[in-house]
Amino acid sequence: MMSSHLPFSRSVQEQALNRQKNRCASCGIRLFGLGRSGAAQHKFGESAEAHHIIPHALGGPVTVENCVIICRACHLNAHQGGRFADTSIYDDLKSVPMAAKILRIAALYPHYRG
Ligand SMILES: [Zn+2]
Ligand SMILES: [Zn+2]
Repeated sequence: MMSSHLPFSRSVQEQALNRQKNRCASCGIRLFGLGRSGAAQHKFGESAEAHHIIPHALGGPVTVENCVIICRACHLNAHQGGRFADTSIYDDLKSVPMAAKILRIAALYPHYRG
């Protein structure tokens, strides 16, 4: 399930984490670096993982705008525990240009800008 996340360059991931002020874009927990665990009290031993706002399979680019860094728990949640069965949040956006599409889904991440 993680294979679609590999294309983001290290530099893009760092820029995204910086934009988010080192917080998980979804739950806001402090992240200390890419691929590293968050605070000790964080229950699940998460690492900070890059995630496509618009999935690669739907044409989402590997740009910083389309990149969120989220903790492992939020990442599993974003992929519905790995099944990623329900893609209906993207259905309304079929005719929307990619840049606007990204903004619409990014708005669902409370800490997209920290
Ligand atoms: Zn999180
Ligand atoms: Zn993902």
